[in-house]
Amino acid sequence: MALCAGILGAQGTGGVNALSQRDKPYVVMISFDGFRADYLQRIGLPNFDRVVQRGVRSVGMIPVFPSKTFPNHYSLVTGMYSETHGLVGNRFWDPERNAAYSMSDTVAVLDASWYRGEPIWATAEKQGLVAASFFWVASEAPIGGVRPSLWKKYDGRVANEARVDSVLSWLAMPADRRPHMVTMYFSTVDNAGHASGPLSPQVDSAAKHLDGALGRLLDGIDRLPDVKDRTYIVLVADHGMSEVGPRWYVGLDTVIDMTGVQLAEGGTLANLHVKGGAARAAVLRDSINKRMKFGRAHLRADVPASLHYNKDPRIGDIVVVMNDHWTIGMASRPPREGGTHGWDPTYPNMHALFAASGPGIAAGKVIPTFENIDIYPWIAELLGLKPAKDIDGKSGRLKRLIEAAQK
Ligand code: AMP
Ligand code: ZN
Ligand code: ZN
Repeated sequence: MALCAGILGAQGTGGVNALSQRDKPYVVMISFDGFRADYLQRIGLPNFDRVVQRGVRSVGMIPVFPSKTFPNHYSLVTGMYSETHGLVGNRFWDPERNAAYSMSDTVAVLDASWYRGEPIWATAEKQGLVAASFFWVASEAPIGGVRPSLWKKYDGRVANEARVDSVLSWLAMPADRRPHMVTMYFSTVDNAGHASGPLSPQVDSAAKHLDGALGRLLDGIDRLPDVKDRTYIVLVADHGMSEVGPRWYVGLDTVIDMTGVQLAEGGTLANLHVKGGAARAAVLRDSINKRMKFGRAHLRADVPASLHYNKDPRIGDIVVVMNDHWTIGMASRPPREGGTHGWDPTYPNMHALFAASGPGIAAGKVIPTFENIDIYPWIAELLGLKPAKDIDGKSGRLKRLIEAAQK
């Protein structure tokens, strides 16, 4: 697969660190999709433990709603809730554009006009630090005219070891071109969780396989004398995983008349766009709520404030928020037995992995749960960068949690 050298964005580095930035540390943020917070304790993972023992781990990192891959990867790098950054699901309908976005639409994912906010790689590139990504949601789109100087078109077939070896080769580059902000991504644990459920032996072996890939990365970094003591290793996941199956399923079309109702996305939540205005939407909401015990329908404006899921018309006129394990969709398409995610981020089953080591982070500490929107401003701080304005995360909040654990 070809390496995509960054088209020199008007405001990017063009692949060369500004002279004033070369003493900055390095951040390597690795996403293990669907790695639920408790897997760390449950499964023996010696290389994950290396990071935990050298640094800090969280009891659990709280995702944004919906607890799905695209919204959360983009929240991790922008510090925004999904209603703010615009990726309100893995797929959604935009009534203003009259168009659909889907994570499997290779044209849409490359189109920067879908994305709001400023990803951390753009913050870095604009301020003179080279960024690189071996896969991350939105890294392929020139958001604000900027991509990471080194990036890859998403291809889930690329072997995990090859991803590691590429990142190591980037970190071995001469200091002027060596990326300071690196993201990478692995989907193996999420795949196993969907197919076999969060408590399955398949998840254990997927996690052990990725533990091997992480070990290869850590060993490689330890062999780079200019890098090893100046690098923050940040292990994250986008969300957790819960059991799902046909016995916990509601057929939306058995509950309401679907005439004029567009189901943009179903599953752990349903996003409905309704023809007929606010009055019809309110009637439909009431019909759903009268018949359903295992979830609740809300008009967009009434979605509980804790979910931060009101602002964007892409969310739909009605949102049906299902309880843990329960899903909703067309009656003919019940889910298979296995696992999924997307539910209320306060459910512990949705909590994600967070562990980090690096300069100034004391060894072997545990911090309480925190929201993933605090990752962006924290990384900006680690790299001495000015974060973008108008984010939902708070500068200093995660740093203070880590410092408090060290006392
Ligand atoms: P989910 O359905 O929310 O579990 O999404 C997980 C899937 O998202 C993975 O199995 C990948 O196939 C896909 N995925 C992750 N990152 C990307 C990306 N950057 N571009 C396209 N698809 C991705
Ligand atoms: Zn995911
Ligand atoms: Zn998934």
